[in-house]
Amino acid sequence: MIGDIHVHSSFSADSDADMEDVIRKALAAGLPYIAFTDHIDWDFPVTDVEYDFDVDRYFDAITALKRKYGEEIRILAGVELGLQPHLAERYGRLLREYPFDFVIGSQHLVYNMDPYYPETFAGRSEAEVYHRYFEETLEGVKAFHEFDSMGHLDYIVRYGKRRSGVYSYRAFADVIDEILKLLVRYNIALELNTAGLRRQLGFPNPHPDILRRYHELGGTLVTVGSDSHKPFSLGFAFDTAAAVLRSCGFTHCVYYEKRRPKFVSLQN
Ligand SMILES: [Zn+2]
Ligand SMILES: [Zn+2]
Repeated sequence: MIGDIHVHSSFSADSDADMEDVIRKALAAGLPYIAFTDHIDWDFPVTDVEYDFDVDRYFDAITALKRKYGEEIRILAGVELGLQPHLAERYGRLLREYPFDFVIGSQHLVYNMDPYYPETFAGRSEAEVYHRYFEETLEGVKAFHEFDSMGHLDYIVRYGKRRSGVYSYRAFADVIDEILKLLVRYNIALELNTAGLRRQLGFPNPHPDILRRYHELGGTLVTVGSDSHKPFSLGFAFDTAAAVLRSCGFTHCVYYEKRRPKFVSLQN
């Protein structure tokens, strides 16, 4: 069975999920492993949120949970880093200083704005914003690639007014292919994030065409996560995720322990 390796807790500015509650729900759902991947996205341009946490306290909390529940479920210490080119060196230092098991790299900004806010799209076509988002992702990966898995690659599509209406892999293939080639070159996994399904986008992030293309380009590492900010969505639609990955040519997904991939079969 596939575990969930994209999970937020109250260490993230946008979640109030208690870590122990998350573990109990994960046990109830029968998940064999789970990675907490709370947000660090320094210099986030929205003034009233700070995507940062006390990393020592984070490891203490996870160590205590491992002591209590470690026999029943594998608990991994991860982090979701927001890609911003100027943070590359600082992120590198963070990863040398702390023994994270798993690191997601995610692009959460475009034009230095959070696309969650409709102002990002004011005076711009959706296609223009989507294209710029992929270009910024490419710049982000060029500047910093010490992470294990690329989070929700087409995240931006969640926020356009017509969402997937103007969107297809084909329409943005020029930039997306450049990103995928870099991921393959740096041995970075591509995440299948089921939040797209939960938000009724009609597909996970990224779109299966992108997962298929990553496979064609020689990518072999895929991770699966719900991006749960509330424990009820742990493991959401993982059967669908496995079926999508199989249809894209993958036989295994991976989770990471001490930054090393562990392969898990996608057969039921
Ligand atoms: Zn994210
Ligand atoms: Zn996330």
